[in-house]
Amino acid sequence: RIVGVPREVKNREYRVAITPAGVRELTSRGHEVVVEHGAGTGSALLDDDFAAAGARIAPDADAVWDAAALVLKVKEPVAEEYHRMRPDQVLFTYLHLAASKECTTALIDAGITAIAYETVRLPDGSLPLLAPMSEVAGRMAPQVGAHHLQRTEGGRGVLLGGVSGVAAGKVAVIGAGVSGMNAATIALGLQAEVVVLDTNINRLRQIDFSYRGHLQTITSNAYEIERACLWADLVIGAVLVPGAKAPTLVSNELVSRMRPGSVLVDIATDQGGCFADSRPTTHDDPVFRVHDSLFYCVANMPGAVPNTSTQALTNVTLPYVIALADKGPARAVADDPALAEGVNVVGGRVVQPEVAAAHGLEH
Ligand code: NAD
Repeated sequence: RIVGVPREVKNREYRVAITPAGVRELTSRGHEVVVEHGAGTGSALLDDDFAAAGARIAPDADAVWDAAALVLKVKEPVAEEYHRMRPDQVLFTYLHLAASKECTTALIDAGITAIAYETVRLPDGSLPLLAPMSEVAGRMAPQVGAHHLQRTEGGRGVLLGGVSGVAAGKVAVIGAGVSGMNAATIALGLQAEVVVLDTNINRLRQIDFSYRGHLQTITSNAYEIERACLWADLVIGAVLVPGAKAPTLVSNELVSRMRPGSVLVDIATDQGGCFADSRPTTHDDPVFRVHDSLFYCVANMPGAVPNTSTQALTNVTLPYVIALADKGPARAVADDPALAEGVNVVGGRVVQPEVAAAHGLEH
């Protein structure tokens, strides 16, 4: 089978859907991999690296789409790509179709089979192709928080690790899931003092057991969130209620009483944010002031570290890519209920219930 990997064209998207490791894995199984010239450059992966792993480098996107039975991307296709899609092709990528009528219509009209990373779901309900991006965002949160805590950036002027004879900075992480615990772990690595809050007591029990007193676990409720926010130099919001908008946990009034120069990083900004004043920001202009605090609300944090993000994403997509290439899409989907949940559009019909509902379509 021929697997095609075009260069991402969406504005400021630097990731790519395969690494040289993935190319080697596929070619060793007898598949051909066609990578567009320059597709990996944004992630610091060079054409030569892909070629050395066995890929054919194509001069442009048309050549990739023309050749490929299976097209791998990172983001949903944009208008200039629509005319390249064909009914005999499978597209495997992040699609987020509930948010885009235009893209949904383009996939229906093209007749292509579209499988979305974000709806691949394991039997326990977890989303394996979203988790690595939560890891990346979580690990970035203390890093960006530490940066903006510097006085020169408008922050409180606190060094998270403290120094000998001076107390460490204080970090409160609200939500102890994938992103929250990655944030907490990195904050601990910086030698900050860390508390994590969650509503799930079983989760807190596991964390308390694993971290052996290096951080404090606190049950999340309005009273404890207020205490933690008034105590902290850095607050990291990392909550998720599956399928729902993030709950608003930190009010404007509470921010008005926080330490001057404190920083709040809202990882949940893509789900509406968990602080009342959160609004999505970009890497170009990441922070804004609320009372005497700084809010960081970048909606695509992993975009800043594409080399790491590309590897993290492709590590988890590759097993599905191998199944699709080895078995063909029909068998691969029939054999794996998790992958079947990823199928959004087939033969001009939306088959994913939430996407169909979002656009008032039958599925
Ligand atoms: P997760 O499901 O692993 O963890 C969420 C945690 O929040 C769970 O432990 C849950 O019990 C907890 N929670 C729910 N309500 C709570 C409350 N009221 N108080 C305290 N805890 C509460 O989710 P995740 O993968 O860590 O994702 C978190 C958010 O980060 C999501 O909205 C996700 O879309 C977002 N995200 C953002 C970026 C970005 O670039 N900004 C990148 C990746 C993920």
